[in-house]
Amino acid sequence: MNAEISVSNGGHVAPMEELRDVRLGFRLAFETTFSDSPYQIVRLIPEFPRVRPDIAETTDIVWDLPQLCESIRRPGGYDVLNCTCGLGDHAGLTGLAFVAHPDDATVVWEIDIAGHRAALDARWPEASGFLRLVFRRDDYEVDIRAMLDAVVSASSLEPPVEEYDPNRGGDAYELLQARAADNDWSRQPVFDSGTLARTRSLRREPADAGWQAVARLPAPALYPLDGACRIRGLVGLSSPWIRRRQPAGGTGHCK
Ligand SMILES: [Zn+2]
Repeated sequence: MNAEISVSNGGHVAPMEELRDVRLGFRLAFETTFSDSPYQIVRLIPEFPRVRPDIAETTDIVWDLPQLCESIRRPGGYDVLNCTCGLGDHAGLTGLAFVAHPDDATVVWEIDIAGHRAALDARWPEASGFLRLVFRRDDYEVDIRAMLDAVVSASSLEPPVEEYDPNRGGDAYELLQARAADNDWSRQPVFDSGTLARTRSLRREPADAGWQAVARLPAPALYPLDGACRIRGLVGLSSPWIRRRQPAGGTGHCK
């Protein structure tokens, strides 16, 4: 494989706050579309530590369940929160959650506070740092599976749920139904074997400038590069299956 990844070392920054054993919750929200055959749209109101308590009343921010499902399988940058229409900027979301899998039993999010301020409570009025949420992997899977089961089983309501927001691409609900039927939640390789890795120091000395220390990754199943979240957006930048936040493709509904 000719793909390249690049990792900067140094420059360690501590989170504004680190929370452990975090659980993800939700409330279902529905909107009925009246037509010849009425149907409902289903959304997931986010519940997690430090979420703003009035998120459902004052914003259009919801869980982006397809992104949450993918974050179980691969670390990277994800729109775990999104506008109901799929355009995060509408709801004031300008950052991705950087998801790491530092070991087999742990999932970690790093959320920059400025980029997610619209979704967070008001305890960091001027902060520009980030929040670290640490999950036990078993809990993480159970919580996301619960969202999936709730969304999929809503198809039996009356009128039936036929859409999920954010409905990017127009087939999010079908995608989630297929995901619910698939029991494979195993971790997937981030990079193929032989991917070219480069490093560079963040120190300013001229001798440290530029990328160096080239190595070929020995195995395909490389999850974290350094056992923590320090790779941040690099995985998102380099992995074709991880979409960057971009102002395109929204086909859902928002105010
Ligand atoms: Zn929107």
